[in-house]
Amino acid sequence: MTDPVLLWLREDLRFDDNPAMRAAAATGQPVACVFVLDDDTPGEMKMGGAQRWWLHHSLTAFSEDLKTREGALILRRGDARHIIPQLAEELGASDVFWNRRYMRWQTEADSDIKKELKDAGRGAESFNGRLLYEPWEIETKSGDPYRVFTPFWKNLQAKGEVREALPRVDKLTAPSSLPSSDRLEDWDLLPTRPDWATGFAPVWSPGEKGARARLREWLKNEAARYKDTRNRPDLDETSRLSPHLHFGEISPVTIWHDVQAGIKAGDIPADQGHTFLSEVAWREFSYHLLYYQPQMTEEPLQEKFADFEWDTDETALTAWQKGLTGYPIVDAGMRQLWQTGWMHNRVRMIVASFLIKDLLIHWREGMAWFWDTLVDADQANNTASWQWVAGCGADAAPYFRIFNPTTQGEKFDPDGDYIRKFVPELSRLPAKYIHDPSNAPKDVLKEAGIRLGETYPAPIVDHKKAREDALSRYQSIK
Ligand SMILES: Cc1cc2nc3c(=O)[nH]c(=O)nc-3n(C[C@H](O)[C@H](O)[C@H](O)COP(=O)(O)OP(=O)(O)OC[C@H]3O[C@@H](n4cnc5c(N)ncnc54)[C@H](O)[C@@H]3O)c2cc1C
Repeated sequence: MTDPVLLWLREDLRFDDNPAMRAAAATGQPVACVFVLDDDTPGEMKMGGAQRWWLHHSLTAFSEDLKTREGALILRRGDARHIIPQLAEELGASDVFWNRRYMRWQTEADSDIKKELKDAGRGAESFNGRLLYEPWEIETKSGDPYRVFTPFWKNLQAKGEVREALPRVDKLTAPSSLPSSDRLEDWDLLPTRPDWATGFAPVWSPGEKGARARLREWLKNEAARYKDTRNRPDLDETSRLSPHLHFGEISPVTIWHDVQAGIKAGDIPADQGHTFLSEVAWREFSYHLLYYQPQMTEEPLQEKFADFEWDTDETALTAWQKGLTGYPIVDAGMRQLWQTGWMHNRVRMIVASFLIKDLLIHWREGMAWFWDTLVDADQANNTASWQWVAGCGADAAPYFRIFNPTTQGEKFDPDGDYIRKFVPELSRLPAKYIHDPSNAPKDVLKEAGIRLGETYPAPIVDHKKAREDALSRYQSIK
């Protein structure tokens, strides 16, 4: 009888362009697939609530697709350091395959596991299934990692053609007898009391088919205008591929080639397509940064910021989290996040700037809230982006560039449609006042049914004064 191989699935729940899966299938041996819900590896960021919702649906979709390929998925919960070698032993697997991950706690765990498997006489092979280029494949002329995006992006483009996407795996025959598996329902990934995720299902279709459909629709309807509309939360024309990318339901290689094909065919103007690809490259840059600077999840990359004096204000933090700051664009963003598990990039920047610079609350608090509430929460992107807004990261917006939430709203949501959607109590305010209700005449407020401080909060801080405070705090560390 042929020994089986073990395919360890992580953030790569797809059959298209999956290098580890291709390698497992190519052995011609039976393939046992396993997914480990690992909340236990030391140093690991436990998966947040919104992502658990996504994971439940993504695993359901993957498992169904796997059955049509004669495969079966084993679910296990616990520390992968113990589970993977143990499962390989139970199965008598000759080899174990997986796609690499890049955060320090992940790479450390993976090397330990690889060693243990090899010590036990098994093959253990890992692949790049997550990035266009792995962090060490892009380096400066002197061999150092990058800290500035533009030269990183130039280098990435100069590397020549991104490798072709691998063909889909159509068959992954499971061994005739399989070790026990947890039941997905027993993992309790879905919220119940209360079910705060009711707004997620109408917006998202987790799973590879959902990812492919999303990419197709976006390429057909919106990609051609990406550069022009990407900053407009009211138009909502960005790809929304981020959670699919995070869970590996689609690969960046596939996205890259589909966009390039659209450019070549003349369906996407080159400047619009390239702007989009440069955003995909920001994801690569974030991975590059975190791979070389793993301390970034805790510490500012620019060391002088370690001395910055942050405020602790639970009331203000809660108002921010709940979307009750009295600044409509901030509140709309925070409520979009709570209701749908996602927020438009421009608004992420506005709400992050507000927390860090208007409320002087540590970026780590914001990062933690995003971690729990975003369906696309990603340690590399989330950390690098929070540090970028805080001005303490790589190639960051300077700290003294402080967003004015009112003018940002006026500029990027000119008619107030985004605010009307997520802050319905302001929906009857005319566009002229919707970004700054506290300056609306009394009769206008009355007409719109708004009582400031009752139906909608008055601003929790005065932006002008908050800005001055932030700048003087910044002076003290300069
Ligand atoms: C404070 C803050 C926190 C963030 N946290 C996350 C996070 O946890 N996970 C996450 O995926 N993104 C994060 N981002 C980046 C960005 O907001 C999202 O990737 C983007 O909004 C996702 O929507 P989209 O797929 O429609 O993006 P599109 O505009 O369609 O871009 C396509 C893809 O490119 C990548 N991308 C786009 N913008 C960025 C960026 N600025 N940095 C890195 N990659 C980018 C994403 O993978 C995205 O799916 C954060 C940004 C900020 C300002």
